[in-house]
Amino acid sequence: MLKDQDRIFTNIYGMHERTLKGALARGHWDGTDKLIGKGRDWIIDEMKASGLRGRGGAGFPTGLKWSFMPKESDGRPSYLVVNADESEPGTCKDREIMRHDPHTLIEGCLIASFAMQAHACYIYIRGEYIREKEALQAAIDEAYDAGLVGVNACGTGWDFDIYLHHGAGAYICGEETALLESLEGKKGMPRMKPPFPAGAGLYGCPTTVNNVESIAVVPTILRRGASWFSSFGRQNNAGTKLFAISGHVNNPCVVEEAMSISFEELIEKHCGGIRGGWDNLKAVIPGGSSVPCVRGENMRDAVMDFDYLRGELGSGLGTAAVIVMDQSTDIIKAIWRLAKFYKHESCGQCTPCREGTGWMMRVMERLVEGNADPEEIDMLWDVTKQVEGHTICALGDAAAWPIQGLIRNFRDEIEDRIKAQQAGKTLAAE
Ligand code: SF4
Repeated sequence: MLKDQDRIFTNIYGMHERTLKGALARGHWDGTDKLIGKGRDWIIDEMKASGLRGRGGAGFPTGLKWSFMPKESDGRPSYLVVNADESEPGTCKDREIMRHDPHTLIEGCLIASFAMQAHACYIYIRGEYIREKEALQAAIDEAYDAGLVGVNACGTGWDFDIYLHHGAGAYICGEETALLESLEGKKGMPRMKPPFPAGAGLYGCPTTVNNVESIAVVPTILRRGASWFSSFGRQNNAGTKLFAISGHVNNPCVVEEAMSISFEELIEKHCGGIRGGWDNLKAVIPGGSSVPCVRGENMRDAVMDFDYLRGELGSGLGTAAVIVMDQSTDIIKAIWRLAKFYKHESCGQCTPCREGTGWMMRVMERLVEGNADPEEIDMLWDVTKQVEGHTICALGDAAAWPIQGLIRNFRDEIEDRIKAQQAGKTLAAE
C-alpha cells in the first residue's frame, strides 16, 4: 500500500485548507522558480524519465507529448490547454483535485506551460462542476495576487496567464479537438486529425491538451525526482494514480495508490471489500464506462495498470474509474444504459457513430427484455465492429466496447434471457 509520505495529493478529501496558505504548508509552490530555472529541456527530460503516462484515459507518455511542441516559435504563440471536462460516467477524480487541492494544478500549469514555451494556459472545466470552478478560480486569483502567476510569474521572468473556461456540459467536449472547438466559441465537434494539436490546435496555434491529474502531478515529480515516481508500478506503468471506485463496494472512494496494485488489495484496503463478499462480485468496468467490462472471477487478481488490463483482460485502465457490480446487477440493462448515454452524446457528424449508436442502443433495449432472436447477438457484434475504428473520434469506440465486453463475457446471460422470453411467449400462446 502506498505510504502517506509518497502521496502527491495530500488534501484529496478536503480535510485541510485548500487556500494558498494551506497549499504552501503542504509544500506546494516550494522552489517553483528553481525548477523553472533548470530550463525547458531538463523539465521535459525529467517528465520522460518519470514514465508518466497521461491520466485522461489514453495513457500516452506525457513528456513525449510535450516534446512534440515546437522549440522555436514561427511567430505563432503556443498554448497549454487543460482538459477538466471529466464527463465519463464513473469518473470523478479530477474534481477532487480542483475542489480540494487546486494549487497542485495551477503550479503544474505554470511549469508545463513554461516547458512548452506557452505564455497562456486555458483550463476547460465541465459545465456541471460549479463548486469546482469556484474553488479553482479562487485559487487562480490567489496565485495572481501572490505573484505566482501573471507578469514575471514566481520571479522567473516568465509571463504567464491562466484562464478558466466553463463548458456547457457536453461529454464530447472532453475529446481534445472538440474541446478546442468549444473553447474557440464553436460547436463542440471533433476535428479530423491530422493536423494534430501540437501543429495546429487552439486558434490554429501549437497546443498541448493534458488531463488535470497529468498536470497536477508535475511539480511533485520534479521536486522529488523522476526516479522516485518511476519506482512505483510495473515497468511502463509508472507512478501513483488516483483511482475512483464506485458501485457495489462497502465504501466507494477516490484514493491515490501505486500503479499496478492488485484489484483485490485496492478493494480490501480502501473500500472495505465487495458488498456481500467476493463470491457476490459479478462484473467490473475497470476504467470508466467506455472500456469493456470484465467478469468478476477474472478481476480479483488483476493488476491495475494500462498494460495488464489491456493485454490480459481485453479491457483498459482508462481513467481508473472502477465500477464494481455485484450479483444483483442486471448487466444487460447496465450496458444498455451506457449505450443510451453514448447515443445521446454522439455529436452526429460521422455516420457510423450517429446511426450506429442509436442502432446499438435499440437492439440493447430489446435484449434487456430478451425480445430478440439469438442471431441478433452476432449481428450486434458485427455492428460494433463496423463502428469501432471507423469514426472521426474515439466516441465510436467508446460506444462499441462496452457492448463487445458484454457479449464476450455474458453471452450466456443474454441467451438465457432470450430463451426465457421465448418460453414465456410459447406458454402464453398455448
Ligand atoms: Fe461525433 Fe461520434 Fe463522429 Fe466522434 S465519432 S466525431 S462523437 S459522430
